[in-house]
Amino acid sequence: MKLGFYFGDLPMSNPSSAPTALPTLQQTWDNSQFFSSSADPQIAATVEELKGAIAQLATQCTPFSQQIATAATLAPEQFDGLLAQVKTVHQQRVAILNRLFNLRTFISSVLSVDAQDAQAREWRPALQQLYAEFTQAVQPMEVFLLRVKDDFIEALICDPLLAELRFSVQHERQLQDQLLSLEEEQLVTGLAVNGLHSWGKLYSELAGTLQCQVNGESMGLATASNLPGSPDRALRSAAWHGIQAAWDSQASTVAAILNAIQGWRLQESQQRGKIRPLHYLDKSCHQNCIDRATLDALMETTYQRRSIGQRALKTMGRVLEVEAMQPWDLFAPAPTPGETTLLSFEEAIDLIANAFRRLTPAMGDFAVMMAEKGWIDAQPTPHRATGAYCGGFAEPRQPRIFITFDGTMGSVLTLAHELGHAWHEWVMRDLPLHQTNYPATLAETASIFAETLVRDAVFAKASTPTEKRAIAWADAVSAASLLLNIPARFTFEQALVERRKQGFVIAETLKTMMRDSWQYWYEDSLASYDELFWASKLHFSISGMSFYNYPYLFGYLFSLGIYAQKDHYGEAFNHLYTNLLRDTGRMTAEELVQTHLNQDIRQPEFWQASLDIVDRSISRFEALAV
Ligand SMILES: [Zn+2]
Repeated sequence: MKLGFYFGDLPMSNPSSAPTALPTLQQTWDNSQFFSSSADPQIAATVEELKGAIAQLATQCTPFSQQIATAATLAPEQFDGLLAQVKTVHQQRVAILNRLFNLRTFISSVLSVDAQDAQAREWRPALQQLYAEFTQAVQPMEVFLLRVKDDFIEALICDPLLAELRFSVQHERQLQDQLLSLEEEQLVTGLAVNGLHSWGKLYSELAGTLQCQVNGESMGLATASNLPGSPDRALRSAAWHGIQAAWDSQASTVAAILNAIQGWRLQESQQRGKIRPLHYLDKSCHQNCIDRATLDALMETTYQRRSIGQRALKTMGRVLEVEAMQPWDLFAPAPTPGETTLLSFEEAIDLIANAFRRLTPAMGDFAVMMAEKGWIDAQPTPHRATGAYCGGFAEPRQPRIFITFDGTMGSVLTLAHELGHAWHEWVMRDLPLHQTNYPATLAETASIFAETLVRDAVFAKASTPTEKRAIAWADAVSAASLLLNIPARFTFEQALVERRKQGFVIAETLKTMMRDSWQYWYEDSLASYDELFWASKLHFSISGMSFYNYPYLFGYLFSLGIYAQKDHYGEAFNHLYTNLLRDTGRMTAEELVQTHLNQDIRQPEFWQASLDIVDRSISRFEALAV
């Protein structure tokens, strides 16, 4: 899951330096401890049991509905009875969630390996339905806990069995003054299904049916979208222009989608902000568990240092021997003179494990264990999903990685990235379920950290300039993408919200706004800008969440900022790092770094240190490109 950047195919360092007698590792999942297959009768039996348990949970939550209207004036003598009810419901919901997550992970795993598995395809919507029923069942209690007076919450978090809810409940309650009346909330939720969220669905529908013309050939968007990663520049350009033309033909429709989504949000926040108007960025920061001051420091520091990403692009242009970089060159693979050596899965795990061991032996052993236990599925299958992700079972807490491993450096780094996510899950495995849910901003901490460990190790081991250049290329692609493209999206989205306040924004204006946003960040590092990016990039049309963009930049620099502390703390670092990861679901990002590393991420200095690391890696790339 989570991010997973594309690095292109890179040559590997000489595998002859790796031990040759590596034991063969399992490359397919072994999930048999949960269910035997999607046809296992235990699945139907579990679903039936869960239905019964959810119905019972709904009954137990009903009394909270009657308390909601008077929650703010609750009499202290009612506390004990209600606390006992919260305890019962909480214990039961955790038991249900564990089983539901196990089922969901099992079915998704089957579908990742074989998208055509008929039984799993039937189970998936059934499980979605079950999850929706679960959410509805507990809603009265959730709403009650949002609206009840502070003393009740104080009593709640003093209870040893409920103390684990402290962070999640208190965090949600910070936006208590943005709540509408119960009836209004129900109305908004109900209307959003066929209102707000239909616009997001329309976008997906459009993207799924759009046909692009590339070199006289008609192809779907998904196929065409792989081509900008081609080593053939003419093909990259043809694909990019084909995709542009396809989206341009739908520009008015996508403009209508963006206007509808933004218009809905503005109207809703106006209604919610009657007591205290809440800025759209403050709301987004709250969702991401960061302070507005942190976001401001992040964006301002990144803007000051935008030349790092620009230098990366210019150097990529030199290596590619092109006069000027164009939007279709952004994901070009590194030119690979000579032969590309591929690594076996065993060699990749060995390389990653050794890199991880430089932090702590336990993390290296963990990577090997993941493969030995059949917790990684890496082998190509006929109807396999694309991409890579890390998921997991809830009880017992066990991570799972999905990847289609092809032996390239890109694949090795993706595997390291996903193993980083898995390590994050693993160090949290004994924590209560409600403390394991971390925000998007913190979700990439462990993955990018793990990837950086491996990149550094491979770079140090590389014996030829070509090998070093391959890693440096991957650094440059990430830097350009995260330090320029992501911020340009942020600048555009902010402009969009402001502009929408004044009225409907037509497609032509959106094009100008996107051009301006790219100009602001890329300046002369690109010869032209992608003015239709608001249409081609799905992120802007996600109805459930605004400002989907900056958590990627945050995650990248946050992780590097923590990495920057590694040498400073020496031996003590791993302990600090592990504790920091364990707290990602029960602290804000500011508290995390203050508590474990005694740093303030609201200050530019923290981000400067991260940017210094990127700066050094781009200087390294420049030196190699001569
Ligand atoms: Zn990720």
